[in-house]
Amino acid sequence: MICKGLPPEGSGTKLLPRVAPDFGTVRGVMQGVCKGMSELYVVGGSLRSSLFRELPEWNSCKKAVIVKVNPPAKTAEVLVEYDSPDDAVPPDSPAILFKSATVADDKLYVCTPTEVLVYKLPGFELLHYVSLPCFNDLHHVRPSVEGNILIADTGLDMVLEVTHQGKVLREWSVIGEDTWKRFSRDIDYRKVPETKPHKSHPNHVFQLGDEVWVTRFDQRDAISLTRPGRRIDIGVQRPHDGQVIGDWIYFTTVDGHLVVANRHTLQVEEVFDLNTIGNEHELVLGWCRGVAVMERHKVWVGFTRIRSTRFKENLLWAKQGFETRKKATHIALYDLTSKKCLDEIDVEPYGVDVLFSVHNATRDPAKGTHPDEVRATAGVTVQRRMSIGKAAKDAAKKVFVKSGAFRFAHKLAAPAAVILRYHSIQDRPDQYADTIGCDSIHATSIFERQMEMIAKGFSSVSMDDIALFLKGEKSLPQRAVAITFDDGYKDNVRFAAPILNRFGIRGTFYVLVDAVDRSKAPWYCLLRHAFWTARNPKWTDPTTGTVHNLTDSRAREAAFLDAAGICAKSSAAAREELVQNATRSLEPEPFPNESDLMMTWDDARTLAKSGHFVGSHTMTHPNVAQVSAEDARRELTDSKLKLEKELGEAVKHFSYPHPALNPQWNETTLKITDELGYATAVTTTVGAVRADARALAIPRTYIPRDESDFLWHIERTLLFRTGAA
Ligand SMILES: [Zn+2]
Repeated sequence: MICKGLPPEGSGTKLLPRVAPDFGTVRGVMQGVCKGMSELYVVGGSLRSSLFRELPEWNSCKKAVIVKVNPPAKTAEVLVEYDSPDDAVPPDSPAILFKSATVADDKLYVCTPTEVLVYKLPGFELLHYVSLPCFNDLHHVRPSVEGNILIADTGLDMVLEVTHQGKVLREWSVIGEDTWKRFSRDIDYRKVPETKPHKSHPNHVFQLGDEVWVTRFDQRDAISLTRPGRRIDIGVQRPHDGQVIGDWIYFTTVDGHLVVANRHTLQVEEVFDLNTIGNEHELVLGWCRGVAVMERHKVWVGFTRIRSTRFKENLLWAKQGFETRKKATHIALYDLTSKKCLDEIDVEPYGVDVLFSVHNATRDPAKGTHPDEVRATAGVTVQRRMSIGKAAKDAAKKVFVKSGAFRFAHKLAAPAAVILRYHSIQDRPDQYADTIGCDSIHATSIFERQMEMIAKGFSSVSMDDIALFLKGEKSLPQRAVAITFDDGYKDNVRFAAPILNRFGIRGTFYVLVDAVDRSKAPWYCLLRHAFWTARNPKWTDPTTGTVHNLTDSRAREAAFLDAAGICAKSSAAAREELVQNATRSLEPEPFPNESDLMMTWDDARTLAKSGHFVGSHTMTHPNVAQVSAEDARRELTDSKLKLEKELGEAVKHFSYPHPALNPQWNETTLKITDELGYATAVTTTVGAVRADARALAIPRTYIPRDESDFLWHIERTLLFRTGAA
């Protein structure tokens, strides 16, 4: 396949590039990869659970993943999920994730911190598995030109060459010391959680011809291991990846620079600061690692969301669906010539919370697949150790979930139901990050899989069933689960309802009456959008006079939370004024497609007619326990009356908004909901519904995106009175 737009063969120039390297000289390498929009493999790991997110990055990873992303279709599929066997990892909370991989010929070479795996593409059959006692915090693996495996053994500050059978052929200390003076051959370093401080932290191995090179994080350079003295000074920041494309080596630095060096002169020719490309709002892009050079000056770069302990104090917000956006783990396509960001895809919905590498997944019909840069020959003897990899122990929870132990336990337990609390279901969650907020969105594919699991492994019940159960008029089936949606987004009708219908599940949709009636975005969406797209980087808290300088995402988040807290306890009129004033002073971008954000009354009627339930979520989404009793009564009463008028039927179910502040209900609101004749009112308190629950303050539960977390969480909530896992 000849790439349209590339210069004819031989027309390439050896002159130094002005803007970006010209790939006219390397057509052989670039054949078959002319489209910036080719499918990609994204390699990394999933976090244990949101409760662990304050742990240092990958220490909180519990599953290694490879997903295939289709950028034009904006879809992705999980190809590999991998859990390391016990005998290859430290005993406590081991970091289980894939670090950087290499695609060569028809194979993908990848490592966990303590193992090397070689998969055959495109089916991902495991061909080879190597795990040696000297492996610690591996960062990258690739085939050597001789057909062996080169490994960046970061924990031991060395690079190894091993055979596919695990025989060590060569070892290089990346700092020229005797590795085995500092470390011991008698220690199994796979069992050692970490060997920090590292003296160098080698990250990425590459080859220039038959020379073996490695990037060194702390020295900010790349050095030749086989021709000592040859070095590329990367300088700008600590490097991570180094991908060789023709005459050029593309390095990423962790702070978001792309550094292009000439392989012949070993000089840096170009430095691109990705933080300044298509990032007007100066969001923190995240840890920058993987790079996939696609077409001349087009590169995909992978970023991992920055997580830190400062979000601990916001955990409450997170649970309330109000956690504001940090730049999520994502891949971005850059055009280095026009200095534009052409595309951006959030990969967290597909389970990639920590991202290490990105690869072109498009197969070249002539050669089988696109190599990252080098050909390799490798035998296909399946290693004996593979059986360990395949029989990898599952985490205890998975075993427990699968064993049927839960089912047995449920038979003995008191009857209970779990109510799942969804908000938005979107094909493209990233498009609503600034409005609905990623934490309130489940990707359609994940939602579909979750409903399939509910249909197969649980008994779906409705809020009517739960109301009758609490009145003692109906028993619940074993393993009862109800599905609810807060707020009344249009996507509930567009994406969620067809899936529910297919699986025969009757959902309950709590709509925000005023927003639906006026086709208007809820105030918290308007506010989030105003703070996250603000052109004026200043906001003054009207209640305290505090001036917030929105210089970075942390400041934006703090200001947004501050404003939301004020709104939650304001009357509707005061709140509307605050949002208007904030919007005026922040000068945000226009709110996208506001009239299409919420469902219409026709949508609500369609839901009700097809067997679902429509309930109230108040008129304007205050925290009804924090506003005056008058306001609370008005919110609860008006919304019910309006809904009943539009639907032509009694509205029996209510959901307490929880935009900020605690509590979200109190004795006054209980009294009002009772007087209004509501059969049920649900909260955001986590737990299962049992026979002794108060019908007007029913617990629900948040919904993990990960499949095993999802099942584990429901099982535990059903079984244990404490609820949350
Ligand atoms: Zn809500």
